[in-house]
Amino acid sequence: MLKVYNVLNRKKEEFKPVSGNNVKMYACGITASGKAHIGHAYQAVIFDVIRSYLEYRGYNVTYVRNYTDVDDKIIIKARELGVDPRQYAEMIMAGIDEEFKELGVEPPTICSRATECVDDMIGFIEKLIEAGHAYPTEYGDVYFDVESFPGYGKFSNRLEGEELLSGVRNETEPGKRNDRDFALWKHAGDDEIFWESPWGNGRPGWHIECSTMSMKFLGETLDIHGGGKDLIFPHHENEIAQSEAITGKQFAKYWLHNGLVKVNGQKMSKSLGNGILLEDLLRDFTGDVIKLTLLMNSYRSDINIVDGIFDSNESKIYDIYKLFAKTEKLEKENGAGAEPTKQGRDLAERIKAEFIDAMDNDFNTAVAVANLFGYVAELQKLLQKNLTGDAVLVRDTLKEVYGVLRLLNADPADVISKIRAKYLKKNGVTAEEADSAFEKWLGFRAEKDFAGADAVRNEMAEKGIVFVTERGGGAYWDVKTGK
Ligand SMILES: [Zn+2]
Repeated sequence: MLKVYNVLNRKKEEFKPVSGNNVKMYACGITASGKAHIGHAYQAVIFDVIRSYLEYRGYNVTYVRNYTDVDDKIIIKARELGVDPRQYAEMIMAGIDEEFKELGVEPPTICSRATECVDDMIGFIEKLIEAGHAYPTEYGDVYFDVESFPGYGKFSNRLEGEELLSGVRNETEPGKRNDRDFALWKHAGDDEIFWESPWGNGRPGWHIECSTMSMKFLGETLDIHGGGKDLIFPHHENEIAQSEAITGKQFAKYWLHNGLVKVNGQKMSKSLGNGILLEDLLRDFTGDVIKLTLLMNSYRSDINIVDGIFDSNESKIYDIYKLFAKTEKLEKENGAGAEPTKQGRDLAERIKAEFIDAMDNDFNTAVAVANLFGYVAELQKLLQKNLTGDAVLVRDTLKEVYGVLRLLNADPADVISKIRAKYLKKNGVTAEEADSAFEKWLGFRAEKDFAGADAVRNEMAEKGIVFVTERGGGAYWDVKTGK
């Protein structure tokens, strides 16, 4: 039975969608004000994996993720660059889409953009005004009247004014009746991007975007609403207030929040300059390496990216794909269709059962990934014993199960050659040089000139090339991965 930690009730609950097998899921997306960093990647990976696991368990998932493509920060950035804010947001979104593709994150069922739904937002705000939950000011802004919604603050447990205010951006907002009220519509300043509205030219506030888009595409009650835990207040509190004030129905049945990404124990920040951009990571590492690192954590806790973590996980990924390549080789040599033994079939069953156990427990990818390394050790033993049927079955099971986490889907030859090329380049060695040193080493060994063999071996080890002798007598050269 799938259990999820529901932030709404602060406990783990059985997952039961509102309507049969259909899951309506919304996750707050990125504000297109700058390039994607690892925190954005973390959230995208987490909710993609949650969607993927729900599908694996037989649910029909409609997953909506948005882009906030109009916002104060976008306007400021575009102005600095002297470009149109829409063009700027377009460029950022195109870059992020491309990077997510490379990372191996599936696009949501619907990717909605705030600017494509402004009319819906205006309609939503009009309804809120009519129902007495919002009021326009003489300056052309519209605010949500927090006093009019008695449950305000319940979700985030911030009931006292002081605390409520601590999370709100400190801006001078004339015409506001109450400090806690938040903007639904903001009048446009000089030369600012705007849409026409009953309250004059302006643009929607951030919170109303998500309420409008989730309800537009998924209806009045969502099964899952996701986002980073930093969005609980004020963003999600405000989404609930706006939505439930209009519908009188529960806005989302389950609220799921992912933890934050820290770098060497510290929050990423501009002032510390410790941010990690996704494009930089993708230049150095494959999607598998990045996703494995992010999924070694359980999604609710903060993840700490320490120096060298990607390098060490790259070694792990490299080893797994090398075993997959060996399995493939054995399969070709011994012919496909070798029957697995009972032990092999039992292991495959255990892999699946333990995966479901881990993931049914609030999508515990940390346990699922830790288990993977145990199975990989088993696969290695099967290969050493030449148990082709078992090795093929275990490899296929790993690909099936960890494919749900969007891992291990790549072509082994491709991954191996990419990682090998990276380390050769890093060490300033060509494959031809490694080949010829290796031949030399084999020659010395054949002549039983062990001093000569050792000299070549040591010289190449300095350059990050290792000579590996296999059980059964084979040998090959390889790159030394990791830091
Ligand atoms: Zn949102």
